[in-house]
Amino acid sequence: MISFENSAWIEEQYRYAESICRKMVRPNARYYDDHEHELPWDFATFIWETARKKIESLRLDAVVPEEPFMLQMHINEMFSWGDLGFFMCLPWPALGGNFIQVIGTPEQKARLLEKFRAAKPTWTCMALSESHCGSDSSAIRTRAVKDGDSWILNGEKLFVTSAKKALVESNGYLVVWATTDPSAGSKAIRAFLVEPNTPGLKIMKLENKLGLKASDTAVLILEDCRIPLENMLGGPSSTGFKGAMATFDSARPAASSSGLGVARAVVDFLKEQLDREGVKIRYGVPRRLLTAMERDIIDMESQLRAAWLLVLKAACLVDQHKPNTLESSMCKAKAGEVITKITQKGIELMGSLGYSRSLLLEKWMRDGKVCDLFEGTGQINRLVIARRILGYTGKELK
Ligand SMILES: Cc1cc2nc3c(=O)[nH]c(=O)nc-3n(C[C@H](O)[C@H](O)[C@H](O)COP(=O)(O)OP(=O)(O)OC[C@H]3O[C@@H](n4cnc5c(N)ncnc54)[C@H](O)[C@@H]3O)c2cc1C
Repeated sequence: MISFENSAWIEEQYRYAESICRKMVRPNARYYDDHEHELPWDFATFIWETARKKIESLRLDAVVPEEPFMLQMHINEMFSWGDLGFFMCLPWPALGGNFIQVIGTPEQKARLLEKFRAAKPTWTCMALSESHCGSDSSAIRTRAVKDGDSWILNGEKLFVTSAKKALVESNGYLVVWATTDPSAGSKAIRAFLVEPNTPGLKIMKLENKLGLKASDTAVLILEDCRIPLENMLGGPSSTGFKGAMATFDSARPAASSSGLGVARAVVDFLKEQLDREGVKIRYGVPRRLLTAMERDIIDMESQLRAAWLLVLKAACLVDQHKPNTLESSMCKAKAGEVITKITQKGIELMGSLGYSRSLLLEKWMRDGKVCDLFEGTGQINRLVIARRILGYTGKELK
């Protein structure tokens, strides 16, 4: 039987995350929106020292009894309900760590674990996108050339989330993608681990973005950056680019769940406002008898629920170790659309107040839009869905 109820284990950690959001995150969301690139250290330190002992999805070495990925979806959703910028500042393995966990050798995983045992908050970052390619990541030009017992990396990477946190604020890791042979296409693409302070690795600038102001996003330069041979992720027998694509199967539900947290923040806020005015939503009443406002709220809630159910399906398959490429792209394509529509509708329904900075609605619209861009845009996820349903390869349908 399918159950949509959270287990007691998930519910307990979800409610704990909610209490952190109410006390520490939501009240400070506007401050960090106004102070771009300032890191919420109190929050990061609290998570590192206290909260991650209770929230198992934030730990690398947790003994997780069941549904670990499902738990992560709920925790993502809740922290992003608090604030998506703060969520992006959670000190945990995130995308870079995910790659190491999925395709790293046992020795590389042990090195990652060691870093996450540090006394101070630690982050990782992952650099794939370049100035000429984001969606078509198989076209990257960053080079990795073997030289004796080293790899030498050269190239430029854009939009690297948490680069400053991973490489300057902590002794984290950079996972960078490069080609070992530009004439060999995606087959020659590999990931490499780069330590902070490696000569030749530079943060060129931090992006000023539309939203997610608390989260740093950097341009990185690799100039004759020499790293040991054993820093090729997964070692010589690595699955390389195929491995990168496989991690999207978990990264897409993860991005969707966090974006849906933002969309829920909008719906919860609107319902609180109506409640304060004594307006109750009359569920179950025929649609033609409802007010326009009631119809809008019910539509938003049903869209939110539809997208969330797709996330749960994709997450459930991850926990069952079953393929979920189709489901993860479906949930991401749907969530991106729902987040965009709900956050815009929130502003519309609140009128001019929604457009002002006295409420968080305009911030939620700016923040939430990113979930329709990274981890595959809406168009790219629709392409993946079409390929899977129609049985086309990437080359046949692009
Ligand atoms: C806040 C933020 C954080 C990010 N963090 C990271 C990070 O940590 N690491 C990293 O490597 N990258 C990161 N990115 C980059 C992100 O992954 C890319 O921006 C994304 O993949 C889209 O690539 P692009 O911007 O080059 O757009 P493009 O690929 O140029 O696409 C532009 C438009 O064309 C559409 N399009 C492209 N190809 C097709 C097609 N075949 N069919 C139909 N439509 C198509 C796209 O959907 C989009 O609408 C981040 C981006 C942002 C905004």
